[in-house]
Amino acid sequence: HPAFDVHAVRRDFPVLQERVNGRQLVWFDNAATTHKPQSVIDRISYFYAHENSNIHRAAHELAARATDAYEGARQHVQRFINAPDVNEVIFVRGTTEAINLVAKSWGAQHVGEGDEIIVSNLEHHANIVPWQQLAAAKGARLRVIPVDDTGQVLLDEYQKLLNDRTKIVAVTQVSNALGTVVPVKEIVALAKRAGATTLVDGAQSVSHMRVDVQDLGADFFVFSGHKVFGPTGIGVVWGKRAVLEDMPPWQGGGNMIADVTFEKTVFQPIPNKFEAGTGNIADAVGLGAAIDYVNRVGIENIARYEHELLVYGMRHLGAIRGVRLIGTADDKASVMSFVLARYSTEEVGKALNEEGIAVRTGHHCAQPILRRFGVETTVRPSLAFYNTFDEIDRLVAVVQRLAGQRRAG
Ligand code: PMP
Repeated sequence: HPAFDVHAVRRDFPVLQERVNGRQLVWFDNAATTHKPQSVIDRISYFYAHENSNIHRAAHELAARATDAYEGARQHVQRFINAPDVNEVIFVRGTTEAINLVAKSWGAQHVGEGDEIIVSNLEHHANIVPWQQLAAAKGARLRVIPVDDTGQVLLDEYQKLLNDRTKIVAVTQVSNALGTVVPVKEIVALAKRAGATTLVDGAQSVSHMRVDVQDLGADFFVFSGHKVFGPTGIGVVWGKRAVLEDMPPWQGGGNMIADVTFEKTVFQPIPNKFEAGTGNIADAVGLGAAIDYVNRVGIENIARYEHELLVYGMRHLGAIRGVRLIGTADDKASVMSFVLARYSTEEVGKALNEEGIAVRTGHHCAQPILRRFGVETTVRPSLAFYNTFDEIDRLVAVVQRLAGQRRAG
């Protein structure tokens, strides 16, 4: 394979040249959002300079360009996740909206009183709250797959939860708080055997590993553009054609109709049925450019390099006296959550920021999993392929200095 050149890819990301508190920025907040290569920034401004129009409706040149750009982006997404059919790709605002779409549309139709919805203890609030709301509205029950002390889901316990009341199993592929890579393929296969529908939250996986929705076998796969080097405000619901075709629209308006009278509306086929109103055209096009970029670097190159960085970071952080790593599963991606004895996580985050190092501190919108480990917050450095071993050394040096300043007597 061609050698991965981190210094070459870094030149593609203008923001990495920023200086913060006199130091070159270290961006270790990739689980919150990723930076954008120049090609994505350029693609969005090219759209507004040369192609800007609403799509589908008007019969003029710019409408044709905008429609081609938008539908081209849909094809990029299709190939990126190996979806069998381009019309199974629905553009939404992000993962949160994607899960709400499924919960509101599919959920309203299929979940009833006494039914059960399974999520894991690792979920982001975006994959908890919509299901909780659905369960409350329908008199259904939310059930939770527990994790072991490394932060990996317990498949045996999961199997015990499955029964003929299980309507949907919704799990994350990678935990945003701990970095655990969840065996979603096995989880989906077991759910199917129980007759349940499945949703995989790919918000934290698509930027770190090859995703093939046909191989995964789930009914729905969702992700956000901004976590895969694309713009904010654009995301994807992929669903199996038959499942999507059977679902009612969740929002009504323009673009999603075939015919409207005051008596009755006939809806468009998928994907338009789920894309009411003017969509985020420019940012969909930007997401297409981000996928192009990832393809050029090569997702396997990304996965391999990031794994080396993660192993190095976990080893050096974990060796600091007073550091407790949270999330130590064998299979992990990107995230190195930890707490430091005698420091609040905010103090650690502030000290890192003073050195130009950006990490997230807090509950990471995943309170249940942090509480499972007896903490309310962690410090969460999270890696992307533009990070370097030197940057990890800078992080480790700051944490080491802090640890040395407040040793137990
Ligand atoms: N699920 C996971 C696993 C996430 O990490 C995130 C974002 N932190 C979301 C869902 C929600 O994504 P968004 O805020 O882009 O809608």
